[in-house]
Amino acid sequence: MSKVQTSNLGYPRIGEQREWKKTLESFWSGQISETELHEQMKSYRLNNLRKQQDKGIDLIPVNDFTYYDHVLDTAVMFGLVPNRFAYSGGKVPLSTYFAIARGGEAQASEMTKWFDTNYHYIVPEWNNQTPTLVDNKPLQAFIEAKDELNINGKPVILGPFTFLKLSKGYSESQFEQLLLSLLPLYSQVLQELAEAGASLVQIDEPILVKDLSKNEFELFKTIYQQLNKAVPSIDILLQTYFESVDFYEELIQLPVKGIGLDFVYGKDENLNAIRSFGFPEDKILGVGIIDGRNIWKSNLKEAYDLLCDLETYVPYSNQLLQPSSSLLHVPVTLQHEDTLDPLVKNALSYCDEKLDELVIIQKLIEEPDDHINLLVSHQEGVEQLANSSWRQQYDRPNLLTKRKTEFSNRFNIQQDKWSLPLLPTTTIGSFPQTKEVRQTRFKWRKGELTHKQYQDQIEAHIEKWIRIQEDLDLDVLVHGEFERNDMVEFFGEKLDGFAFSRNGWVQSYGSRCVKPPIIFGNVTFTSSMTVAESVFAQSLTSKPVKGMLTGPVTILNWSFVRNDLPHQEVAYQIAEALLTEVKALEAAGITMIQMDEPALREGLPLKDHKHQHYLSWAVEAFRMSTSDVEDTTQIHTHMCYSEFNEIIKAIDDLDADVISIETSRSHGEIIEAFETNVYEKGIGLGVYDIHSPRIPSADEMLTVIERALNVLPTELFWVNPDCGLKTRSEQETIDALKEMVKAAHLARKKV
Ligand code: GLN
Ligand code: ZN
Repeated sequence: MSKVQTSNLGYPRIGEQREWKKTLESFWSGQISETELHEQMKSYRLNNLRKQQDKGIDLIPVNDFTYYDHVLDTAVMFGLVPNRFAYSGGKVPLSTYFAIARGGEAQASEMTKWFDTNYHYIVPEWNNQTPTLVDNKPLQAFIEAKDELNINGKPVILGPFTFLKLSKGYSESQFEQLLLSLLPLYSQVLQELAEAGASLVQIDEPILVKDLSKNEFELFKTIYQQLNKAVPSIDILLQTYFESVDFYEELIQLPVKGIGLDFVYGKDENLNAIRSFGFPEDKILGVGIIDGRNIWKSNLKEAYDLLCDLETYVPYSNQLLQPSSSLLHVPVTLQHEDTLDPLVKNALSYCDEKLDELVIIQKLIEEPDDHINLLVSHQEGVEQLANSSWRQQYDRPNLLTKRKTEFSNRFNIQQDKWSLPLLPTTTIGSFPQTKEVRQTRFKWRKGELTHKQYQDQIEAHIEKWIRIQEDLDLDVLVHGEFERNDMVEFFGEKLDGFAFSRNGWVQSYGSRCVKPPIIFGNVTFTSSMTVAESVFAQSLTSKPVKGMLTGPVTILNWSFVRNDLPHQEVAYQIAEALLTEVKALEAAGITMIQMDEPALREGLPLKDHKHQHYLSWAVEAFRMSTSDVEDTTQIHTHMCYSEFNEIIKAIDDLDADVISIETSRSHGEIIEAFETNVYEKGIGLGVYDIHSPRIPSADEMLTVIERALNVLPTELFWVNPDCGLKTRSEQETIDALKEMVKAAHLARKKV
């Protein structure tokens, strides 16, 4: 046996070429049968295991594979099906499983972000069901790996505490009782695993990195004491990730075999805890040392040094070398990246390459002298990129972060300039991305249209929608974003410092995958990105047309970001580039400019005490890109979420002249937020939900407007849908906007 063992926490499901996604979607659309679905899924599952086996990973995870989402798997394993679905016990049918995730016989369950990642899980719902173990999925995964590949797998299970915390449908006072009701089920899962020959089980409790109260942690302890009592023959590896743990001193006293900690995202705190309190001799430490969430090669020298340092507290025989989290959050393999610039590609490491890194470190520990050359060659690509002109030391000029004039004065100046009616109507930016619109871009990319032909077609789409908006009698128009495929990619492709992979897909939710741009070097402006379309649109109408940009924080949060600079620095670089664009728009006469920040909130750190720091640089980046403009220039912003309370101060600090936010799905909550917080800048609360094809009536929207006007000043209020309209059909869009304009007119008469 090796001196030190390697362990993986989770392998991506999607497959090297997203074959998992394709299989799922062909099943949903009826192209393949359920038997074929199961067969194909099994082959992917085994293939993932085989790859890890071939790489020589010692502890290979099983049960990390899923047909949709591992949180949903956990819920259905316990028969927790929301009451609105027909279900009468026993193993949850596949059709119900997918219906909970995607809707069908009843409304789908809510989906939400998995901690601070871009993965979304299905929120389990409790409605007084009695949980029962109806399907021991971890057991089947374990048996399959053993029978088919002779792998003694490490079952991975979402822990009861985290599972319950992520669920909804119960009150706080029920928490303990529900948690205790899960205990016998978890015990049974473990017991059956033990009987099948499993000895080590990874139980994920990432909730431990959030701010738990002392009482909650006491309850946490009880659960693990009891689990251990119930199934003493199973060794539990309690796994955390994404941040450092609190309560370290007590955590290491729990009757579990091992504790897994994140030494990438919680490095300093976790390390300090070990230095201060040591680590029990009889326990295993899972050392999360390879970044499980980013795509850069690891600095193996640093990793190795850290392990040597840790060895003074924990002997290698008690260490597990592992990624910092499941590798679900990174693309599968670099193998098919044949179009990436080698300068970038040689600095990258996707899932498979990260597993290789673990093995390299393992070799280094075993025979340092023999393998030191591995370390040097591994680092070459990283150094080449680091020394390239793309990453030269870059001194940012001092940019204004404050508008010349306070909002209250700017407001009057802008009222004079724009002379808009009371309760002005507008939209969020995009209009339907119809087949024709997508065809235009597609043909242009394939070289089937000349630049001139492409421009003409885009202009035709713009012109059509300017006319429609005029006919609708909207007050502030947009050009429609027909030239954009994605609000981040569009800018990334035009700015320097971004690369686009061909196969860098990661699962976002269900079968949906995203391919984030890669920010590999200094971000700089090259040439104007949006001016031509905006100027063209404005030339067609006497009404104002908003310029439309994506903000620095959203561009950052939806990309894979270089890891040699703090995110804050990268955000400032993007901000500087965007400011250049803002000024170009201004110079071209586009002086109402919207800078969207739908992902501002997504970047909030997991620990409360880190929120302030994040919000302050995020706000600063936004202000850098929007402050150095004339008083008459009206800056808009847009966000698509309604958990508003915790960041309302930051949103106010953006100092945008007008903000539009999504509210139609949680109007009550947002109105409450404004009852307790004063907001005194231009604001448009979405008056209808663009996510639904339903056309709301003017009266319905009028009610929404009137409720908002109870807590917001009329002269600051705007009337708009709650997000961009790109996913709607043309007819739906026109019909809904007609009603919206009618609602605004009715409201004007009433005030
Ligand atoms: N301006 C963008 C649009 O309308 C905003 C998208 C978003 O908020 N995610 O599509
Ligand atoms: Zn939005």
